[in-house]
Amino acid sequence: MRIALLPGDGIGREVVAAAKEVLEHAARRFDFSFSSEWIDLGAERYLRTGETMPQHVFEHLRDDFDCILLGAFGDPRVPTNIHAKEILLGLRQRLDLYVNLRPVRLVDARLCPLKGVVEGGIDMAIVRENTESVYVGIGGSFKPDTDDEIAQNIMLSTRRGCDRLLHYAFELARTRRRKLVLCDKANAIEAAHGLWRKSLKSLAPRYPDVVATTLYADVAAMRMVTHPHEFDVIVGDNMIGDILSDLAAALVGGLGLAPSASTHPGRVALYEPVHGSAPDIVGTGKANPLAAILSLGMLLRDQGHCAAALAIEAACSQSVVERACTPDLGGALTTSDVTAWICACLG
Ligand code: ATP
Repeated sequence: MRIALLPGDGIGREVVAAAKEVLEHAARRFDFSFSSEWIDLGAERYLRTGETMPQHVFEHLRDDFDCILLGAFGDPRVPTNIHAKEILLGLRQRLDLYVNLRPVRLVDARLCPLKGVVEGGIDMAIVRENTESVYVGIGGSFKPDTDDEIAQNIMLSTRRGCDRLLHYAFELARTRRRKLVLCDKANAIEAAHGLWRKSLKSLAPRYPDVVATTLYADVAAMRMVTHPHEFDVIVGDNMIGDILSDLAAALVGGLGLAPSASTHPGRVALYEPVHGSAPDIVGTGKANPLAAILSLGMLLRDQGHCAAALAIEAACSQSVVERACTPDLGGALTTSDVTAWICACLG
């Protein structure tokens, strides 16, 4: 297992260092081996050399690793965040990492802003398309900064893009509670989101064991708040998936607990906490490392180290329940205290 460590900026550096410590501990405890290499990309490098993602670094990441554990990109010294866009979006687009998987599970009822929801009462997986929709950056402005300004962005959906994501989501549903809901705005965005429905209709008969339904995304947002237990696998295009996954994360404790994986079967996979570089808390010890450690758990699971992955997930849940966590989750520990706690919990 060859792992590239790409900490990036701000608290990304702190939480990836924490995850690396847990990885080393888990490797000893569960008797597996790995090699890792720190990759120096981010604001520091950009300010020093003007480089964002040099071609040889991209090729090294693409060709020489099984997976990448990434922290976060973003730095107030680079107001345009050009480096962050080129590195993060560049990796997703150039590696064609079309699946963005965000599991969401409530491990401690006190973290849920809703009344009467118990542990385990929210357990969903958001499968977000990661390479298309309005995020492809096709568009622009005409007569900018005038009263006549016209702005346009194209929402791009391809049949291939819909089919491959839905296949992935159906297979995932088979490993879970066998319920899949496609969330879209096909009533308003008839062509681009209508294509998702066409794709679902033609693929669903191949997965008769999965209950596949559709919901308009606005209805889905309401229902995720009023009936969160109903949801299992939620599929959305890049924009809908982006919005609904943040809503879902807020139901179970917020950014500090939200891991993600960006994958394309057969290619190097990217694991990262959903949160950003949080410049306001850099160096304070307040950075919650759990989202990065849970991302490491996803990585290990995908690499076949299921026992280690399960133990890491259980240790993270226990740390939250016992309040052995950072202030954002109601604890009083620092980043390194939490990391040491998780390692001790792994035994
Ligand atoms: P980006 O644009 O890179 O996503 P952002 O500033 O919009 O960044 P984040 O950096 O993810 O968003 O976080 C917003 C705020 O949430 C931070 O300023 C920080 O106070 C808090 N936060 C985010 N991640 C963590 C974390 N891991 N631990 C503790 N607090 C966090």
